[in-house]
Amino acid sequence: MEEFEFSTNSSEETLEIAKRLSEKVKKSDVVTLEGDLGAGKTTFTKGLAKGLGIKRNVNSPTFTIIKEYKDGRLPLYHMDVYRLEDADEDLGFDEYFHGNGITVVEWAHLIEDQLPSERLDIKILYVNDSTRKIMMTPYGSHYVEICKELSNESISN
Ligand code: ADP
Ligand code: MG
Repeated sequence: MEEFEFSTNSSEETLEIAKRLSEKVKKSDVVTLEGDLGAGKTTFTKGLAKGLGIKRNVNSPTFTIIKEYKDGRLPLYHMDVYRLEDADEDLGFDEYFHGNGITVVEWAHLIEDQLPSERLDIKILYVNDSTRKIMMTPYGSHYVEICKELSNESISN
């Protein structure tokens, strides 16, 4: 599996990569985010949202599993399945994955069996206080294309 690696030296740089990604995604795209607490999953999602033109503040959905933001170029469905009690529970994820917006799933491995096979997996690794390694693994040609474009235009990969 081809992997694309980026490195960011501030949360602003992570926001910027996410913003660039937001310019390439289309309806029904799915992005998963893995990484320890504080790695930057929500920061990345904020960058995506901002890039989509979403004005509402995006934060970790603490008590809700899914939050919808509909005031941008595309709707954003933000899932944080960390607190999902039963991994087999079906909250209608599929309707989001195939919906009119793009779906971002934090802690996606918890619902691995329910994820679509074509998607962009992103893993954020904490390096130090301000540095993160962002590993992207695309599944499907659409996502491979996106990763190639991102690495071509990236300042810090
Ligand atoms: P998660 O959702 O993975 O738990 P958050 O995005 O909520 O993580 O928090 C990441 C924290 O790390 C934020 O306080 C952010 O400012 C900080 N940070 C420092 N450097 C970076 C970086 N390069 N990329 C992303 N976040 C960073
Ligand atoms: Mg989070």
